[in-house]
Parts: sequence; C-alpha cells; structure tokens
Amino acid sequence: MNKRQIFDQVSDMEKQIGELYEQLGDLKGKLSDLLEENHRLSMENLHLRNRLDLTESEQDSLPEGTKLKEMPSEGYDNLARLYEEGFHICNLEFGSPRRNEDCMFCLDFLSKTK
Ligand SMILES: [Zn+2]
Repeated sequence: MNKRQIFDQVSDMEKQIGELYEQLGDLKGKLSDLLEENHRLSMENLHLRNRLDLTESEQDSLPEGTKLKEMPSEGYDNLARLYEEGFHICNLEFGSPRRNEDCMFCLDFLSKTK
C-alpha cells in the first residue's frame, strides 16, 4: 500500500465518520421526540385510567346521563386539573391535548359539573 492509498483510505474513513456523526445526531433527535411522546402518552394513559376508575365506580348505581352531575368532588377536581394540564375532558375529545386553546365543550362540562 503506497502513501497515496493510505491517504485516500484515511480520507474515506473521515468521510464515513462524518456521515455517522450526522446519523447519530439525527437519531438523537428522534429519540428525544420519542421520549417526549412517551411521556405525553404515559400522562394521557394515567388520566384515562383515572377516568375509567371513576366511571366504573359510578356506573352501577347511577342511571345514564346523571353520572356527571353527581360526580363526587374528587372526580371533579381530577377533571379540572386534567383540563388545566392541557387535556380535553369533554365527551368529544376526552384525553386529547388542547394545544393551549380553551374548549367550550370542556368549559361547559366543568360549569355543569361544579
Ligand atoms: Zn374539549
């Protein structure tokens, strides 16, 4: 192997390392996105589970349609907090993020439940 070949090989490696470094940065960004989404979904899951517990404990004794009005204050607080944290609590979009917008269905629901 002459000096020229060695030089070319080193240049080649340098280029590959540069590309790998770029890929690494790319993957790091995707990982960060995934972690963020994972956190969001975990929170959403938690909130939905709370909601499910609430519903199950009330379902048997209360007729359909009256559940929400007679929701215990703890349940109301949970939902109010959930809304404050940026999630829908209305029937239309329950559990999905509000994207910093007020939802009139959620607010209507909260005012009726209070
Ligand atoms: Zn809503």
